[in-house]
Amino acid sequence: MAKERIVRTIIETHEEIRIRRMTGPVGCPACGRMMASPEALAQRLGLTVREVFRRIERGEFHCVELPDGGVRVCDGAMPEKPEDVRK
Ligand SMILES: [Zn+2]
Repeated sequence: MAKERIVRTIIETHEEIRIRRMTGPVGCPACGRMMASPEALAQRLGLTVREVFRRIERGEFHCVELPDGGVRVCDGAMPEKPEDVRK
């Protein structure tokens, strides 16, 4: 069981390396949505930047690091609003 966990970590690292080579708009490797800066996402969701980083650490937001040291996040990990048009 412990070995499986190690393999999974290696795969995630590999994905991150691929993303780091990209420039410009970044698609989320986890859900494919466009990613934004933490500041932009905070503004869009009405959160503080600090709260955005807190949610990244909790795994509630997807996050990738850019070659320039910047970070891109997406809110794809957030549960969708359970709105059903037919109701
Ligand atoms: Zn995502």
